[in-house]
Amino acid sequence: MTNSIRRWKWECPECGDDDEDGKYLATDRERYCGVCAGDCGRDVRLKKWLAEPPTDSTEPNAPVL
Ligand SMILES: [Zn+2]
Repeated sequence: MTNSIRRWKWECPECGDDDEDGKYLATDRERYCGVCAGDCGRDVRLKKWLAEPPTDSTEPNAPVL
């Protein structure tokens, strides 16, 4: 059982929309491009890769480098 939420960087191969350097990271559930769905009604599967490895840090204010 895992409660960890992974966050993904992503890019749409069709319209080129992306996470804008981590501003809009995706979750496990987000698999399709919202722009393509909205503009064309197409389900375009995003290219996704993990934004950061899971960490065991419990520091709430750990600096983000
Ligand atoms: Zn798209």
